[in-house]
Amino acid sequence: MRRKLVVANRKMNGSLSSNKAFLEGLLIGTQDFPNADYSVCMPHPYLFQAEAILKNSPITWGGQNMSRYESGAYTGSVSPGMIKEFGCEYVIIGHSERRQRGHDTDHAIGERFEVAIKAGLKPIFCMGETLEEYEDGITDVVTIRQLNAVIEEIGVKGLAGGVLAYEPVWAIGTGKAASPEHAQNILSFLRGHIELLDADIAENIRILYGGSVKADNAAKLFSMPDIDGGLVGGASLNTDEFVAICQAASNVYES
Ligand code: PEP
Repeated sequence: MRRKLVVANRKMNGSLSSNKAFLEGLLIGTQDFPNADYSVCMPHPYLFQAEAILKNSPITWGGQNMSRYESGAYTGSVSPGMIKEFGCEYVIIGHSERRQRGHDTDHAIGERFEVAIKAGLKPIFCMGETLEEYEDGITDVVTIRQLNAVIEEIGVKGLAGGVLAYEPVWAIGTGKAASPEHAQNILSFLRGHIELLDADIAENIRILYGGSVKADNAAKLFSMPDIDGGLVGGASLNTDEFVAICQAASNVYES
């Protein structure tokens, strides 16, 4: 059975003192919720802090993006090896906030998936449609195109080393989460597409939903059979709210 995974995407937020309060609060707050996995993706300068506070705990941490290259003249970029050196388990790739600014093409994200795995990281690969694409009813076309770009790069078996996240762009940071039924339909569709290529990978790969997950909608979203957890932006800035989302993930197995 796939365990639920809840990942905080803290984006470009935080400071040494507010991170400390959040990470320590999370350690304490999730102690009673052992039935799911939790991770926090921090801005790169704070990875050392996440490692110092979370090391030897069940909570893992990760980066929010990385270069495709190991080293070289890429001013301002951070390599997969550097992220790994700070003990990271995960790295987010393909987030819409980077796709939209033109930093990431489908092909470049496919390359990143492979490079992350080679560096010993688990990529959290984000895909999702814009509002216009949603209204045009082409969510399936868009997400399959994005997913296939990764599969072309690493083969379907390569997916096993990472996590997928369906994040409709219109739901990110807007307070308008996809309905649990819509998210379930798309995740089931994506899993079905993978199943045609490899049934084992489809059965075992975790697919998260992201986009305005909050304490008050998490339980319903996580109760859907194909939603294996959440990628949480805004609500991860409030420790109590994020802990409540973790609780919802852990409690799915008790209900
Ligand atoms: C995200 O940016 O990955 C995200 C899901 O943000 P939010 O939860 O704020 O919609």
